[in-house]
Amino acid sequence: MAKRTKIKALLDGSKVGETVTVMGWVRTFRNNQFIALNDGSSLSNLQIVVDFENEDPAKLKRITTSASISATGKLVASQGRGQTVELIAEQLEILGDSDAEKYPLQPKKHSLEFLREIAHLRFRTNTFSAIFRIRHHLAIAIHQYFHEKGFYYIHSPIITGSDAEGAGEMFRVTTLPFENPPKTENGEINFKKDFFGKSTNLTVSGQLEAELAALAMGEVYTFGPTFRAENSNTSRHLAEFWMIEPEVAFNDLDDNMDLAEGLLKYTIKHVIEHCAEELAFLETRLLEEEKQKPQHERSEMALREKLMFCLENEFQRLTYTEAIDILKNSNPNKKGKFQYPIEAWGADLQSEHERYLVEKHFKKPVILTDYPKQIKAFYMKLNDDNNTVRAMDILFPGIGEIVGGSQREERLDVLMARMEEMHIPLEEMQWFLDTRRFGTVPHAGFGLGFERLVLFVTGMGNIRDVIPFPRFPGSAEF
Ligand code: ATP
Ligand code: MN
Repeated sequence: MAKRTKIKALLDGSKVGETVTVMGWVRTFRNNQFIALNDGSSLSNLQIVVDFENEDPAKLKRITTSASISATGKLVASQGRGQTVELIAEQLEILGDSDAEKYPLQPKKHSLEFLREIAHLRFRTNTFSAIFRIRHHLAIAIHQYFHEKGFYYIHSPIITGSDAEGAGEMFRVTTLPFENPPKTENGEINFKKDFFGKSTNLTVSGQLEAELAALAMGEVYTFGPTFRAENSNTSRHLAEFWMIEPEVAFNDLDDNMDLAEGLLKYTIKHVIEHCAEELAFLETRLLEEEKQKPQHERSEMALREKLMFCLENEFQRLTYTEAIDILKNSNPNKKGKFQYPIEAWGADLQSEHERYLVEKHFKKPVILTDYPKQIKAFYMKLNDDNNTVRAMDILFPGIGEIVGGSQREERLDVLMARMEEMHIPLEEMQWFLDTRRFGTVPHAGFGLGFERLVLFVTGMGNIRDVIPFPRFPGSAEF
């Protein structure tokens, strides 16, 4: 094919006077003369001016919304308003026809719910192309942050033979037949006959494997898909989501918090610098959407203001115990406004509590530390009080928990005692315990939910709209 130039590269006007070829999808065709062409490189369309008097009328008819075309011509400074440059078409080729009548995306506003049903076409909208460009830049920024710090990117397995991670309900992976599966003598399914000779699942977290790598390579991170069969139909949970899990030898909880706060700020800053057009567009979208809401439900800050606010302020760090005091004495708690009232120390925090702390009390991102051991995982380091663990959760406005992490329990005897208390099968975890047997060191890490970060940065309200093909209870389309 002829060499094409991306529309993004034409918009700054530096190529005015040159003859170029562009290829893309028609957004609109006005007065038989002006094509608005989009090729996905930018939110902006390129205006193509057609010499309709000298063009084959049959071809003009084929220039419909969503048809794909190739156009070659001279780039000129635009006469009209609304664009800096336009292309005077000399050659026009239809690459793919499209029946505009049947095309599901009409030139009007569609609801996000409707677009979710046609997720295979929603990339063609301004909103979703903007979201997925930002998602790309966030992923790149994450790799860049760790790479610049000397971390190694480790690929943890997706199919796991360990079911003791305890982070959530798992999806089983099997090739056994549903009808008449092989059984053992006592009538249970015989997983020895399964593909791997044992029962296997999709991973819920790469942390345990990352710990193995960290205790040899120092600073590592994973960034991959994770799966949780949790039946939670919320706007913050997916059954398949991507997680970033750094794990660092010789780090304590303070180092861990610094690393996480640094990562969030670095990635947000990267998007502000690289996706200005997308952020401006999404900010306007959000303002429009919020006009439908009553005043008290609208955000106090516009999208870019909120992102800048996050960059410029230190996250508020406090212990779980301090947070419980604040919550206990809070107005919503006293007036019975919380769905789950806070009565005593030890209560698990719900999203409503996390959001109260972040959005109403501190009005900035919050890091809670030192949770009761009862509500946290077995691998978190026990404090000297024997009651709390060196956990940290980062809570964000509008999102709630975005990061969950901890300093890990590196003492073999304490770890084994915790595992026994929590009924974690020790025999199956010998490989994990080996790290504590052979040169154990203090270490720490955390998990950042990638989609929750994309949700925050794009200002979208539902996690199903920031991953191309969302998986959630009752739905695995495409
Ligand atoms: P939550 O309480 O919100 O369910 P969690 O405590 O189960 O979160 P962790 O097991 O600590 O979460 O996982 C680490 C991070 O992964 C979370 O902080 C969150 O950002 C993200 N996360 C967890 N579960 C999901 C999910 N189902 N969909 C999308 N992201 C998730
Ligand atoms: Mn969960």
